[in-house]
Amino acid sequence: MPGIIRFAPSPTGFLHEGHLLSALYVCAAAKKWDLKIHLRIEDHDQGRARKEYIDGIREDLAWFGFKYDSESIQSSHFDFFQKVLDKLTAKGLVYPCTCSRKQLQSENPVSETGEVIYQGKCRTQAAPCSGPHSLRVVIPDKVINWHDERLGDFAENPKNQCGDFPIRDRDGFWTYQFAVCIDDLAEGITHIVRGEDIRNSTARQIALSQLIADTCQGDPDVPLPPYTRPLYLHHPLIVDSSGKKLSKREHAYSLRQDKDRGKSPQELLGQILYKAGFLSDNTPTTLEQAIATIAGRL
Ligand code: GLU
Ligand code: ZN
Repeated sequence: MPGIIRFAPSPTGFLHEGHLLSALYVCAAAKKWDLKIHLRIEDHDQGRARKEYIDGIREDLAWFGFKYDSESIQSSHFDFFQKVLDKLTAKGLVYPCTCSRKQLQSENPVSETGEVIYQGKCRTQAAPCSGPHSLRVVIPDKVINWHDERLGDFAENPKNQCGDFPIRDRDGFWTYQFAVCIDDLAEGITHIVRGEDIRNSTARQIALSQLIADTCQGDPDVPLPPYTRPLYLHHPLIVDSSGKKLSKREHAYSLRQDKDRGKSPQELLGQILYKAGFLSDNTPTTLEQAIATIAGRL
C-alpha cells in the first residue's frame, strides 16, 4: 500500500511563501517516495480559524495547480477528539491546570528555546476547577530517540523540553499537539515533511501519539490503528539576505496579494525556489519543474 504524506496548513491567514515552500517539499517527497498526498485543514483553533481563509487556502492551492488525493478538516473530528480525551481522562492521564499565563512564566524554568518547562504544579496540587483552565496530559519521563531524514538523530525528553503540555487550552479549544497526533494516526500518515520551526514538537508528538494509540487500542468507540512512527523530514525555512528566518511580519504578505498585483504562479514559484536557494536567479518555473527540482535534492 502506498504511504501517505500530508500538507497541513492552519486557516489563520492566507497562504504565504512559507506555506508554498512546505507544499512544494510535500509534493517533492511524494514524488520521491511515491506517496499519496492528503490536504488537512488544521482549524483546531476555533478562536483564530476563519472560513475565508479555509476557502482561500483551497483556491490558492488550485491556482498554483497543486493536486492532492484526499482532504479533511479538523473541525469535523472534534467529537472524536472528545472521545479520545475521555479515554485518557479515565486512565488518569489528564488533569486541569488553572495556572495563569503569568504564573506559568514566573513559576517554571524556561528552556533554551524560550519555552516554559511546566513542572506539574496542578498535577500534584489539584485546585478547584470552576474558573478558566487548560487540560494537560501526563507525559512520560522518557527520552525519545528519533531520526530526521535531513537533520540526523535526536534524543529528546519532552519532560525536559516543555513538561506536561495542554491538549485543550484555556478557551476550550483543542491544541495543535493533540489534534495533529490524533489526525496523523487516524489518517494513516506515514511521512511528515514540514518546516524546521516545528522540529521541536516532534518528540512530544511521538510520545503523545504512542500514549493515545496505547490508550485507545482495542476500543471500538475510538478506532485507531496501532502506532507506527512516520518518517520525518524538517525542511529549511526561507531566510533573508542576512541569513535570518523571515519574520511573521514579512510572511504577512500573502501570495494572493502577489496574485492581485498581477504575478503569475510561475513567477512566484521561481521566486520561492530562488529564495530557498534552489536556483541562482528567479526565472519563472512551472509547478512540475519546481517539484522535480526539490525532489532531486531530498
Ligand atoms: N498546521 C501547522 C502549521 O500551519 C503545521 C502542522 C504540521 O505540519 O505538523 O504551521
Ligand atoms: Zn497549572
